[in-house]
Amino acid sequence: MSDAPPPAAVFGLLSDEIRVDILEAIAVAEAETETRSSGRTELAFSDIYERVDVDNTSKLSYHLGELVGPFLRKTDAGYSFTHAGEKFVRMILADNYEHLPAFDPVTIDGHCMYCDSTELEASLRFQFFIVTCRNCERALSGHPIAPTLVRAHDGDELVDRVASKMALDYRQIRNGLCVACTGDLSTTVIDTEGLPVEDIHSFLVRDECNHCLREYNGPMAYGVAYHPASIAFHWEHGIDLSTRGMWELHEFAAQWTAEQLSDDPAEYRVVLSHDSDELRFYLDADARVTRTERVRGRTVD
Ligand SMILES: [Zn+2]
Ligand SMILES: [Zn+2]
Repeated sequence: MSDAPPPAAVFGLLSDEIRVDILEAIAVAEAETETRSSGRTELAFSDIYERVDVDNTSKLSYHLGELVGPFLRKTDAGYSFTHAGEKFVRMILADNYEHLPAFDPVTIDGHCMYCDSTELEASLRFQFFIVTCRNCERALSGHPIAPTLVRAHDGDELVDRVASKMALDYRQIRNGLCVACTGDLSTTVIDTEGLPVEDIHSFLVRDECNHCLREYNGPMAYGVAYHPASIAFHWEHGIDLSTRGMWELHEFAAQWTAEQLSDDPAEYRVVLSHDSDELRFYLDADARVTRTERVRGRTVD
């Protein structure tokens, strides 16, 4: 068991304007320092004192002492961030603790997997970027989004950024790394028999973080669609999947198949086709790709 203080006591230490100012000042000083190639800058007490509006050195010393441990590390050379200090100060500087700014729903390109409509709409709901079909009104995709992204971009530009981020995130997830905390994921393959997506996808993949409890869901074929072999395959056919959101993959789903080859241990095969070319993926019980196979100029049986 960890002998670390409880979270409420740790985060309670930040309930003080001077301490938050200290963390921000260290981040600003780090950014202004030229020699930070190895990623760690240690800031001397006197440098922090120059940058923070505090009455006297003993007061600064007291507040620094409170931050050392959970948020700052202290060596003879000075002060630097711990992981928690780093995370917290980046969130503050990017204003990501604020609510999402307003965003008017926009019409976007894509393909509804339920009704084939191409009339899709992107909107924000709570902290999620949601894509819905205007025709059948079903939700097609949802992805968490940071306020800073919505403040920096709007309209089509925002949609493009979210699509790229989604593709990147899902590739990381299928490599077994949680996007939120980089912890390990536990994977479950779900047979879609009896589910609303039964006719479109044979298998869904659920990845759950063993540490922070975040959960990710996606069709098995979409997981391999972001695999480097698929990115290369589609690139050769004039399609860049690396920047496409999941709602943009639905237009291909009808040509993609996923089937279970064996039971114990479980093995799956996903086939992505384009024209008469095929790319076959073999996946293990955790839906990780074990090998791939290219078949040129042959139609799917
Ligand atoms: Zn629809
Ligand atoms: Zn996690």
